[in-house]
Amino acid sequence: MNAIAQATSLQASLEAALPPGTVSSNESIREFAAHDVYRRGATPILVIRPTSVADLQTAVRLVTSAGCNVVARGGGASYTDGYVPTDDNTVSFDLAALNKIVAIDATNMTVTVEAGCTWADLHSALAAQQLRTPFFGPFSGIAASVGGSVSQHAVSHGSGRYGPSADSVLSVDVVLANGALLRTGSAAFDQADDTQHAFFRHNGPDITGLFCGDCGAFGIKARVTLPLIKAPPYTEALSFHFDSFRALHAAMRDIAALGLDDENFGLDAALQQGQIARNAATKQQLGLAWQVFHRAPSVWQGLKSIVAIAVAGDRHLREPGYAVSYIVKGHSDKAARHNASSIRAAALPHGHEVPNTVPRVVASLPFAPLENVLGPNGERWVPIHGIVAHDQAVSFHDRFSALMATYEDRCQTHGVWTGAMFQAIGSSAFLYEIAFYWPDELQPYHAGTLDEAFLKRVPKHAPNAAAAALVDELKEKAIALYSEIGAVHMQIGKAYPFAGRLSPPSNNLLQSIKTAVDPQRVMNPNALGL
Ligand SMILES: Cc1cc2nc3c(=O)[nH]c(=O)nc-3n(C[C@H](O)[C@H](O)[C@H](O)COP(=O)(O)OP(=O)(O)OC[C@H]3O[C@@H](n4cnc5c(N)ncnc54)[C@H](O)[C@@H]3O)c2cc1C
Repeated sequence: MNAIAQATSLQASLEAALPPGTVSSNESIREFAAHDVYRRGATPILVIRPTSVADLQTAVRLVTSAGCNVVARGGGASYTDGYVPTDDNTVSFDLAALNKIVAIDATNMTVTVEAGCTWADLHSALAAQQLRTPFFGPFSGIAASVGGSVSQHAVSHGSGRYGPSADSVLSVDVVLANGALLRTGSAAFDQADDTQHAFFRHNGPDITGLFCGDCGAFGIKARVTLPLIKAPPYTEALSFHFDSFRALHAAMRDIAALGLDDENFGLDAALQQGQIARNAATKQQLGLAWQVFHRAPSVWQGLKSIVAIAVAGDRHLREPGYAVSYIVKGHSDKAARHNASSIRAAALPHGHEVPNTVPRVVASLPFAPLENVLGPNGERWVPIHGIVAHDQAVSFHDRFSALMATYEDRCQTHGVWTGAMFQAIGSSAFLYEIAFYWPDELQPYHAGTLDEAFLKRVPKHAPNAAAAALVDELKEKAIALYSEIGAVHMQIGKAYPFAGRLSPPSNNLLQSIKTAVDPQRVMNPNALGL
């Protein structure tokens, strides 16, 4: 059968088995599924949007038995080619409609969601019951799904104290390549799909962990169960400024060792003055202050916040150097303040305190619209990152700065610039993220994701293949630098080296697991280097 006949026959069998509207061969829907924010891949032959776990199982079984490849797309907010098809024989699974909150169990302190549920939806449903998950989402959580984050690892909200997304997972239900549903953790004993036994992760070997960070190469997550905590109602926010990266890093390392912050993020001057300063510009401060007021635990605290934001303005964001922000939570005002003062004491030997506008806004509006997928002047954007041991952070910074110095003229010619963001993850790891910006035309991803009014406002750029090629080159050089200092990566997708970088025993194990769960190697081919 030729490719067109095969696609038509697969579509017919899928349409016969699934509810109307689940399967699409529409050109613009397939074109949208071919892109992430950075790259265009192959166009999928079909896009399937299941609304139930049973339909997801049926569809995966039919697609793989037709010999086609499968990629899963959650919120689509990644930029490492993770869900971008690599060949013309791929069916894309859009999980956005598999998004129910299945059960909030306040007795057993667990929540089960379908994989396409966004972090923003989960967070607001839990907040209504004064509950929270320990890690509660990336900054992109307005779009990013629980399944997508768990599948590629994510950090940010809650990661200071509770680590990355994988540390807040009890159990996953995964649809394997043959359509079978595999359950993990304490739910692994269940024979049926409808029992509620996902209350503990560590039940023999950590099979849940195998699927955390698999980038969909081992199967498609259908449901995720996460632990709950009582949402701490009191928040303190702090920001500090440092003259050098070395000082910033020393402070972040010392503070991370205390284990007191709910989240932290450091920024270099370019990001403070660009992205963050854009969002915190004075003209927007009233709206932001209102958000902060609205979410404060008391009217008095809310009023204090409004006054603080109005007085602070955004002058401090324009200082050269580096800044880090902390969000500290507590079950009493006293506990939050106490932890904040310990953080302050650890930071001040290295720098000075500045107004806390940015973390206050982030704490009250954790899931902002995805406008940061463009630069402040409408530039294209792509970040890369490495997670390094603390004793490598300064060395990486120096080597990356030296690399960029050799590219200074070419960057200037093509309008390419970079910014950097940092996060301490728990006490032992340091995330160094580099964002590249370049003038170039927008992609279907932007048109399909960003608000129309916002898109009208931003400056537009002509196609710029030379600038894009330079960013590609810089990205590869930076990834090689990360490897040289032993950095590891979340969001491996198809952009970071993985299988080939593993030692032979680890690689053999990885390959055997892949063969066991996906013998035909049809689940997200090339992800993780498989
Ligand atoms: C503005 C912005 C801010 C961001 N901030 C952060 C941040 O603070 N922290 C952070 O870590 N990242 C951040 N990111 C990156 C990204 O959004 C997150 O990592 C997020 O977790 C991705 O989730 P998603 O649902 O969009 O996944 P997708 O992009 O849809 O998919 C990611 C990967 O997981 C696979 N996948 C998706 N769903 C499933 C499933 N159900 N089963 C199996 N595989 C699946 C895909 O095939 C792909 O390989 C940001 C991105 C943007 C655009």
